[in-house]
Amino acid sequence: SFPVITIDGPSGSGKGTISQLVAQKLGYHFLDSGALYRVTGVAAKFHGVAMDDEPALAQIAANLDVRFETGADAGVKIILEGADVTREVRSEEGGMNASRVGALPTVRQALLARQRAFAVQPGLVADGRDMGTVVFPDAPVKVFLTASARERAQRRYKQLLEKGESVSFDDILADIEARDERDSSRAAAPLKPAQDALLLDSTGMSIDDVFNAVMRAFED
Ligand code: C5P
Repeated sequence: SFPVITIDGPSGSGKGTISQLVAQKLGYHFLDSGALYRVTGVAAKFHGVAMDDEPALAQIAANLDVRFETGADAGVKIILEGADVTREVRSEEGGMNASRVGALPTVRQALLARQRAFAVQPGLVADGRDMGTVVFPDAPVKVFLTASARERAQRRYKQLLEKGESVSFDDILADIEARDERDSSRAAAPLKPAQDALLLDSTGMSIDDVFNAVMRAFED
């Protein structure tokens, strides 16, 4: 088996940014597991499957024809059945649908093998909700990254403003709190730290500080 670093936590905790930086630094592969749940939702919409039709959604998850293309400039492109769906995948609706399909146990089961297939030489940084608890329980390094709901809402608010979207801070905060509640109270893979995870609260920390803390955990 190959070294796996799992980085779990709620949306907006900065785990995506940190995971990519760590993967880059170590020359490891990167698994954005949230993207697989998001793509499952987009594929379902493509094929006219309802977000609560569990057998059909599990079928879609098991047979996803998806590629992650790392381009020179604009980050990772997500290609579903030959079409660029990056925008749909990254949208608010994409996140909402991901959270609905992610509540279904047979969808989670269908995505397990695909996620584990990313653990190849020289190593993997896996970003998600249940990387340390379910997908890679034997990973030698596990981090659970949090930040206060208010701080995560502020980060999201800033991102959306930079993209030129007009949004209300209070709506974003309410969305984040609602998604936290759903993700931590659901029966299938509730969001919680693995017993052997390093708990890191990034509230008030810079990206650099968080990156260094994760690298120290890896070096120990
Ligand atoms: O991380 P991201 O925001 O892309 O994830 C979107 C949604 O997918 C999350 O809110 C969560 O409900 C679901 N998800 C999950 N398990 C993962 C990653 C994401 O259930 N490993």
